[in-house]
Amino acid sequence: MSGASILVAPGVRMAHVPGFAFGFPQGNNVYLLGDRDPVLVDTGMPGEVGEKVLSDLFAEVGIAGPRRLLATHLHRDHVGAWPWLHERFGTELWVHPLESENAFASVDASEADAALADGQVIDCDGVEVRVVFTPGHSPGHVVLELPSSRLLLTGDLIVGSGTSWVGPPGGSLVDYLASLRRVRTLDVARILPAHGPIVDDPVAKVDEYLEHRALREEQVLGCIHDGQDTVPAMVAVIYAAYPDGVHGIAALTMQGHLDKLIAEGRVAVDASGDENRYRVIG
Ligand SMILES: [Zn+2]
Repeated sequence: MSGASILVAPGVRMAHVPGFAFGFPQGNNVYLLGDRDPVLVDTGMPGEVGEKVLSDLFAEVGIAGPRRLLATHLHRDHVGAWPWLHERFGTELWVHPLESENAFASVDASEADAALADGQVIDCDGVEVRVVFTPGHSPGHVVLELPSSRLLLTGDLIVGSGTSWVGPPGGSLVDYLASLRRVRTLDVARILPAHGPIVDDPVAKVDEYLEHRALREEQVLGCIHDGQDTVPAMVAVIYAAYPDGVHGIAALTMQGHLDKLIAEGRVAVDASGDENRYRVIG
């Protein structure tokens, strides 16, 4: 679908920006809301390829560039083209202020023109958008609910294929799971993710995600039980079938699970040695 946008609902266009970032080889979906003075949601990776996609998308509705960009979060594949948009069209950046704590932000949150807040309702050129604060993947991540079309733009909270990365620094599995449970209660018919295909059964997808994380947690506890009580040992067991290249990010994922278990009082850490060792409490 590269090159031309898909009209998902009246005033809701989806375009695909190729690129590889943060473990998503499939590129990014970006959205344009409205027809006359439309609002862009996320940008995809910076560079000529993405700029061409965005320019073609803007041309479809007869504008040079948008006045506003709503960012789900500040990772490079979501706002990387904002400096280009800002310089060329004066596009404003709207983002949740807690993105200032995003360890992998590609844009400084202090550069934002406006702050997104939980529950805020924004008229995006006739398309009503409700901001839902969904931290976890990043500290100030938001999703955008479109009540009139029962669509939910989920950024990286929920992606169309595979799973989203959650871990330190900046990410929190405790927050992420709470965000998933919150989104599960929303009255939405379809999920429009930032990566991968549209999701037609939101509740089933959220349940699949919750089960995936629960399975990983069982694996972590199983490792500790079997004496694989350090992060590298857990990665070696749980990610045995994966290439070594993912082991760095897998270690952060394991740490995210351990942080959650420690916060819940179920696991304790012994930090006296070279490598942190974990044990199950009780
Ligand atoms: Zn991201």
